[in-house]
Amino acid sequence: MKSKVAIVDCRKYKPELVEHAVSTAVELLGGWKQFVSSEESIILKPNLLARTDPENACTTHPEVFGAVGRLLRQNGFEELYYGDSPGNHLIGVAQTADGCGLRQVAEDLGIEIADFEEGEQVPFPDGHAADHFVLCKGVLEMDAIINLCKMKTHQLERITGAMKNTFGCVYGFNKGASHARFPNADVFGRMIADLNRLVRPRLHIMDGIMAMEGNGPQSGDPTPMYVILASADPVALDTVFCRLVNLDPELVATNLYGQKYGIGTCKTEDIVLMTEEGDISMEEAVSRWGNPDFNVERDPGFRGQFKSIRFLQPLLDRKPYVKRENCIGCGVCIQACPLDEKAIYMKKGKPAYRYRKCIKCYCCQEMCPEKAIDVKTTRLAKIADRNWKL
Ligand code: SF4
Ligand code: SF4
Repeated sequence: MKSKVAIVDCRKYKPELVEHAVSTAVELLGGWKQFVSSEESIILKPNLLARTDPENACTTHPEVFGAVGRLLRQNGFEELYYGDSPGNHLIGVAQTADGCGLRQVAEDLGIEIADFEEGEQVPFPDGHAADHFVLCKGVLEMDAIINLCKMKTHQLERITGAMKNTFGCVYGFNKGASHARFPNADVFGRMIADLNRLVRPRLHIMDGIMAMEGNGPQSGDPTPMYVILASADPVALDTVFCRLVNLDPELVATNLYGQKYGIGTCKTEDIVLMTEEGDISMEEAVSRWGNPDFNVERDPGFRGQFKSIRFLQPLLDRKPYVKRENCIGCGVCIQACPLDEKAIYMKKGKPAYRYRKCIKCYCCQEMCPEKAIDVKTTRLAKIADRNWKL
């Protein structure tokens, strides 16, 4: 059976426009009760990576969260909660939600914060990459998850969309530890696919009104894409995101393994694209909403494909580096490094790298509040990519 993805135009974060777009998208898929029952407790899972102004396009915009909350209330859903495990676990969900403008919206709608302050180990013997996860209690206590993801780039996985947003169900510092356990895009993608098999959100709604391109998921640039996407299939939804930004969906490990493990499809021919005006082809969607110049990593990449010449890997890796002029010396990047023996340390008031230890998880880049960490591709990697077609 083909996967349905609803795509609805939305030009501004105005309450009535966003509500119309979200409502239309969900109705195109059959309505809320197709996915959740009003008897169930439901957790809304926005992207709350960091305390940052929603206009930075780093987190799910409060208008999208608010529209979903209002529509669920109008449709008789009473037991609503929200939560996400933010990048900096020490700040906590409430403060992070406050900084993102989401807490007040939730309070106005009577949507409570779920328990993300405690975690519980959950065995997952069927996992392909992970045999257990430490999940936030709030996730375990609910009947259903509605995933409210953001359309963004990601330095490790190229994009972070519906599949990757479930990573915020993992408790606190276990997220950093996961980067150490799954140190490259390929195994990390497999782990995320396992996680999606375990937590299985019922519905995914993507805030793509203002997306993030470039140095995501926290330090990139906002760019308009003017869409709300919705689907029960997170792989199909992320595939549509990829097509809109001119990225081969199969280069995204979360798509590839999501498809392989039976979560969904990243094949365009297996996706039905639904709009207010009727079903359309991917080509039509791309011509209407696509941005071929969207700044995202499109190189085929090297990880997992260099087994025979692995000694070249350090020369081909994409390395994080500090833009000293932007750095305020806060040390958040050092706290974010998941390694016991940190690969980043403070030297004369600014961070410096021990590249030989670094596993290139980019947690430091992800958590820097000043956009002071970027990632560079070595010249050899660029040449290899252009000429060797690896
Ligand atoms: S988190 Fe960013 S601003 Fe803070 S010390 Fe690290 S590089 Fe500098
Ligand atoms: S230095 Fe940065 S990229 Fe390297 S392991 Fe630590 S957090 Fe990950």
